Amino acid sequence: MVDFSHLVVGAGVVGLSVAARLSRAGASVLLVDRHGAIGTEISARNSEVIHAGLYYPPDSLKTQLCIKGKHMLYEIAEKAGIPYRNCGKWIVAQNDSEHEYLESMHLKARELKVPTEFLSLEQGRMLEPAVRARSAILHSPTTGIVSSHSLMTYLLGQHEEHGGDLALNTAVSAMEFDQSRGLYSVLFRSEDGEMELKFENVVNSAGLSAPLISNMLLPTYRHLTPHYAKGSYYSYGLSKPKTNRLIYPCPAGHAGLGSHLTLDLGGRIRFGPNVEWVSSPDDLTPDNTQLEDVYAAVQQYLPTVEKSSLKPDYSGIRPKLAGPDHKQFIDFIIREEEGFPGFVNLLGIESPGLTSSLAIGEEVFELYKS
Ligand SMILES: Cc1cc2nc3c(=O)[nH]c(=O)nc-3n(C[C@H](O)[C@H](O)[C@H](O)COP(=O)(O)OP(=O)(O)OC[C@H]3O[C@@H](n4cnc5c(N)ncnc54)[C@H](O)[C@@H]3O)c2cc1C
Repeated sequence: MVDFSHLVVGAGVVGLSVAARLSRAGASVLLVDRHGAIGTEISARNSEVIHAGLYYPPDSLKTQLCIKGKHMLYEIAEKAGIPYRNCGKWIVAQNDSEHEYLESMHLKARELKVPTEFLSLEQGRMLEPAVRARSAILHSPTTGIVSSHSLMTYLLGQHEEHGGDLALNTAVSAMEFDQSRGLYSVLFRSEDGEMELKFENVVNSAGLSAPLISNMLLPTYRHLTPHYAKGSYYSYGLSKPKTNRLIYPCPAGHAGLGSHLTLDLGGRIRFGPNVEWVSSPDDLTPDNTQLEDVYAAVQQYLPTVEKSSLKPDYSGIRPKLAGPDHKQFIDFIIREEEGFPGFVNLLGIESPGLTSSLAIGEEVFELYKS
């Protein structure tokens, strides 16, 4: 006896998108989260940027789903009244090698049909007098910002409108696959005690805990080790300097995009996130010790920024699939696990996961169709 056709583990923006898409297709879906509200982990602690799809290899899922997700997100935000702003972004180069980096980004963007254009330094000074770009400015007009909480509330509404169920304060604590019946028995822990339910399919969209959920089911030799890269944000208490768009430096390392300037929907400036490798995802205190480094990085492109007005604000943790020594690009992993029909793992869904969320919902739906 099956309780639901699908279990979706994790009610962050990705799990919500997957659950809404499957419910809309007529599946009976239980979405669970261990917390008392939706979207309280990674999805609540990010830059809320709608990325254009510029940073990663052209044929990667990160690029393809970002571009597709961006279009879907703008369309749905407009239709459903989800607050967003297509404010655009500049990536600024301070030297020749950064300029070269932007040239290759521009070429890649052209191949991908993602609009980008170089502005002259003079145009730059006119449009954003507070911003310093010594070598080049690449403008990305399709970048924007969105209210991630409004998006999640909308997705939950879609899920429930199509008959989907949500269980909060409910943690998945064990899973087994019954090969002969092709069913997953899942043990849940909540305030009321333990309960076991049976599903034909399970989607693991547990964010930072996705490797641990996968390890509950897969044999030891296929176990994954989660890695965590914390990013702290710093609020800015002054109304000047001011910018009208997002300002990004060229990324210096492989783990993040550099301490950039983002705006919230109220027009307030914040800086971050930086990169700090941590051994546990539990410490969410923004890192005060790196304020000096962040200030130095921001000063490169916003010279009149005042250090005394930078204050640690909040932090988010990136779900990494390898540690700091791994320098190669790692893509999103979205796959049905071999030997476990109907078990779909979503692993390493870091940035641009918010932008890609609606496209990830489609991707998972397509996996179940094939
Ligand atoms: C610092 C930072 C900045 C970012 N900036 C951007 C950006 O500007 N633009 C962008 O596109 N992307 C950005 N991202 C990426 C984006 O935020 C994530 O890709 C996205 O939010 C991931 O959503 P998720 O649903 O996979 O994870 P989460 O939101 O973490 O959801 C996973 C859920 O699973 C639940 N869960 C875990 N274990 C269990 C269990 N055992 N039982 C039940 N429930 C469980 C958790 O409670 C959680 O609610 C950023 C990420 C970070 C860290």
